[in-house]
Amino acid sequence: MLLMGDNDSRRNALVDSLVRRGYVVSSSVEKAMRRVPREEFLPDSFREDAYIDTPLPIGDGQTISAPHMVAIMAERLDLAPGLKVLEIGAGSGYHAAVCAEIVAPDGHIYTMERISSLAEFAEGNLRKTGYSELVTVIFGDGTRGLPEKAPFDRIFVAAGAPDIPEPLTKQLADGGALLVPVGGRYYQDLIKVRRRGNRFEKENLGGCVFVPLIGEYGYH
Ligand code: SAH
Repeated sequence: MLLMGDNDSRRNALVDSLVRRGYVVSSSVEKAMRRVPREEFLPDSFREDAYIDTPLPIGDGQTISAPHMVAIMAERLDLAPGLKVLEIGAGSGYHAAVCAEIVAPDGHIYTMERISSLAEFAEGNLRKTGYSELVTVIFGDGTRGLPEKAPFDRIFVAAGAPDIPEPLTKQLADGGALLVPVGGRYYQDLIKVRRRGNRFEKENLGGCVFVPLIGEYGYH
């Protein structure tokens, strides 16, 4: 009989493989991904699959991102303790929790979600795993950003946009960075925008696949 390990050992085995494959590079991302229990951010029927490196359904046609994509985005955002971060697309809340581990104890994650049942799902998952103090879930159209909490040190979009949503670049702090998948509905390039004063430097980090960003400055 094959003895399946418990979730902690499965989680560590997955992170070992993310390190081996070069997705996890920094000790901060490694530590965060070893701590956040991905199984707690999944519907019951998918808990068993929490440590397979794949996106999984979370309801309403949406998905929790694959662990390697969460790792890529966390690495490319250069997260650090104390930063104020805006996520567009809370989904399950998992990605926000990983970021929260890194910006703790003085930083904060604001995460926006346009589907109310998912905003509640994310909030419940973050509460039961102990991240409520570090993460605020906001129900609403994230393509407009969150002007009342701007500027943000980092912004990332966990859904594919037709173009870079302009309100998001405007809400970046000087020296801040934005990560956003831009392209078609089924395939995008992950774009990093760095703000230096009033200059915005863009870099293409390569191909990715996200569900569509739907809203005023996204798909309609
Ligand atoms: N980061 C999530 C995965 C997100 S999937 C996780 O860790 O589980 C992308 C999410 O973006 C979906 O839940 C979708 O409803 C949401 N979304 C799409 N367009 C949006 C918008 N304009 N504002 C806020 N959320 C949006």
